[in-house]
Amino acid sequence: MSAILGKEEVYEVIVIGGGPAGATAALYAARAGLRTLVLDKGVYEGAAGRAQRIENFPGVPGPISGAELVRRIQEQAQSFGAEFRKEKVLQAEVLRDPKEVWTASGTYQAKALIVATGAMGRNQFLPGEERLIGRGVSYCAACDAPFFRGAVVAVAGNTGEAVEEALSLAKFAARVLFLVPSTNALVPPELWEELKGHPNVEVRISTRILEIVGKEKVEAIRVATKGSEEIIPVAGVFPLLQGTAPVVDFLGGQVRLGEGGCVQVDEGMRTSVPGVFAAGDVCCKRFRQAVIAAAEGCVAAVSAEVYVRGRSSPRADWGR
Ligand SMILES: Cc1cc2nc3c(=O)[nH]c(=O)nc-3n(C[C@H](O)[C@H](O)[C@H](O)COP(=O)(O)OP(=O)(O)OC[C@H]3O[C@@H](n4cnc5c(N)ncnc54)[C@H](O)[C@@H]3O)c2cc1C
Repeated sequence: MSAILGKEEVYEVIVIGGGPAGATAALYAARAGLRTLVLDKGVYEGAAGRAQRIENFPGVPGPISGAELVRRIQEQAQSFGAEFRKEKVLQAEVLRDPKEVWTASGTYQAKALIVATGAMGRNQFLPGEERLIGRGVSYCAACDAPFFRGAVVAVAGNTGEAVEEALSLAKFAARVLFLVPSTNALVPPELWEELKGHPNVEVRISTRILEIVGKEKVEAIRVATKGSEEIIPVAGVFPLLQGTAPVVDFLGGQVRLGEGGCVQVDEGMRTSVPGVFAAGDVCCKRFRQAVIAAAEGCVAAVSAEVYVRGRSSPRADWGR
């Protein structure tokens, strides 16, 4: 479905990221009667999805997986009317009003944004990567796969997101090399089986890209597999790896960032841009825990409600 909304259909709040921070923000925003949309690329792509056993979330003695904890918060948010869509946000225009959020399937608009994308972003580019962005290096198969019709392309990653991108590419490319840098992939089994069984896909475990090679455009990759190196000719590379950096690439430097690229917020989880709030691991902080992310999601939603409704302070009956 096209996500392009008319003016009267602008959401009041869009939450980017549906982990403990984003799902809790959605719960509070929707319960306050705000028309709320959550765009989340997948729970297993976030820190909560990586946590196998959580036993210190208050009221949930556990142990419980982070994914199950998030599923429960999301369900609670949905029960108050929050809408969730599994989409990756590629870009956000936060300085205009209404604010715009772009995904591969369209543009969404909102009066306020809550950024809750966590801190599983990449810490650095591969050699050659930055120089060749748009010249064979891409991060969005839905956007760019047709450019690689009949070609050989490489996808580097070990998440469900990387697998889904590889499967989209395999519809166009002659061959997709799926390079997993670790000894195993953190991917739902059925998705993993689909990838491995695809006739156009070759999966290589324990294989890291050392360099993306090419003058004007991508020509090859230099890879290492268990100590041995080789050069493989490719026309495209999709580096979809994870790290420990705050995920802020889609903001394009529009909000003030702190050391290491974290989002700077005040005590109301307000960023440097009016109407833009942030919560959870993406924010500058010392401790990264699910309960802290959830609490910050609550604060961000309260502040967003004040902003959207043009009030100077929260409603007296907040949370009742
Ligand atoms: C292995 C591990 C174990 C842990 N154990 C514990 C524990 O025992 N107890 C505890 O309290 N905490 C634990 N943590 C920390 C806890 O998981 C995090 O502090 C918490 O998940 C942060 O929540 P968040 O919502 O800010 O970010 P995340 O959980 O990372 O969620 C961010 C969400 O944003 C989505 N997203 C990112 N980019 C985009 C985009 N461009 N478009 C759309 N969506 C996007 C992601 O897919 C993800 O769903 C653990 C973390 C790890 C990695």
